[in-house]
Amino acid sequence: MKRYIIPVFIPHYGCTNECVFCNQHKITGSQTTVNEYHVRKIILDWLERLNYAAFIEVAFYGGSFTALSIEKQQELLNPAYEFLKQDKIQAIRISTRPDAIDDLILRNLILYGVSIIELGVQSLDNKVLKKSCRGHTKEDVELAVAAIRKYANFKLGLQVMPGLPKDTLLKGLLTIRNIIELKPDFVRIYPTVVLNHTKLAKLYCENQYTPLSLDESIKYCSILKILLDNHQIPIIRMGLQATENLNSANVLAGPYHPAFGELVQAEIFYLSITKFLEKINLYKKNFLKQEIIIFHSNRLTSKIRGNKNSNIKKWSRIFPYFNLKFSQEANEKNFIKIKCDNQIYTLNINLISNI
Ligand code: SF4
Repeated sequence: MKRYIIPVFIPHYGCTNECVFCNQHKITGSQTTVNEYHVRKIILDWLERLNYAAFIEVAFYGGSFTALSIEKQQELLNPAYEFLKQDKIQAIRISTRPDAIDDLILRNLILYGVSIIELGVQSLDNKVLKKSCRGHTKEDVELAVAAIRKYANFKLGLQVMPGLPKDTLLKGLLTIRNIIELKPDFVRIYPTVVLNHTKLAKLYCENQYTPLSLDESIKYCSILKILLDNHQIPIIRMGLQATENLNSANVLAGPYHPAFGELVQAEIFYLSITKFLEKINLYKKNFLKQEIIIFHSNRLTSKIRGNKNSNIKKWSRIFPYFNLKFSQEANEKNFIKIKCDNQIYTLNINLISNI
C-alpha cells in the first residue's frame, strides 16, 4: 500500500543547539509556531486531500522533538494520537537528537503511539561532530540506539551527513560501518550543503570550509549506498528535498541537486556495468569495433545513460573498441540484459550493488 506522509514542521523547537549546517527554517520551509490546534488542522487538511487508499503517517520533522518539554511533546502528539486511535492514521513519526533520548521520554512516546524515531546522527566521528557543533558524541548515539532498542515499539531511522567539516571518505566509511552495526531499520543520507545564514556559510566565506563537489558527493554516497544495500538496510532518502523555501537560491555552495538520489543510482549503474564491460574487454581478441547492446526497461533509461548521458560518454572514452547501443525493449523490469558476441548476459538490478 502507498504511504501518505502528513508532515508537521516544528522548526528549531526544542533545540538549544546551533549545528554549523543548520538553518532549520530553510530546511523545513516553515516558520510557524506550532501548537495542538495547528497539528490537528494540518492533519485534517491533509486527510481531506487524500483520495486513494494509503498507509497514513503523521511525521514531526525539524527541530528536536524530544528536546521539547514533556508537556509540549504531549500537546503536539495528542491530536495525532486521537487520529491514530480512530484508525484515521496508521503511524506517528518523530525526529530528534541522540542526546535527547532517555527512558522517560521513550515511555511517553509509547503512550502517545509513536512508532518511528529518526535520530540525527550525521557522523560517528567525534572530531567531525565537534567541528560541526553537534553537541553530542558517537557514544551518545550508541546509548540512544540501545535505549530505543529496549522497546519493540519503535522502528529506528538514522540520518547521516557526508561532507561535514573534517569529514573524509574514510571517516564516512567508518561511520557507515558503525551504522550497519547499530542495525537501523532505515537510513537517510543528506550530503552537506552550505545554506545561507548558517555558521557553515560563514566558514565557507572565510575559506575555512570547502564543501564536497557534486561529483565527489555522488561518488561518496554511491559507496555508502552500496555498503548499506549489501546489508539490506534501506535508504529512504538521499539528498535534501526541494521545498518552496529550499531551492538553489538558498544554497550558497555544496552538492545540492533536486534529483541527487537519481544521480547516485546512475553512478552505481555506471560502476556495475563498467565492471561487466571490463571483463568483456579483458577477453577481447582484436581491436575491431565490437557491438554491445544493453537492453533495459524504460524506467531505467536515465539511470543507465547517466545525467546528460554522462555514463555513455565515460564508457565511450574507456572502451573505444566497443560500439555501445541501448535498447528499451526489455519487458523484464528487474533485469538488464547485455548482448555481446551473440551471447546474452543478465544483470539482476536488485543485486546490482553487489556486483
Ligand atoms: S540539532 Fe537539529 S534543529 Fe538543532 S541546530 Fe542541529 S540540526 Fe538544527
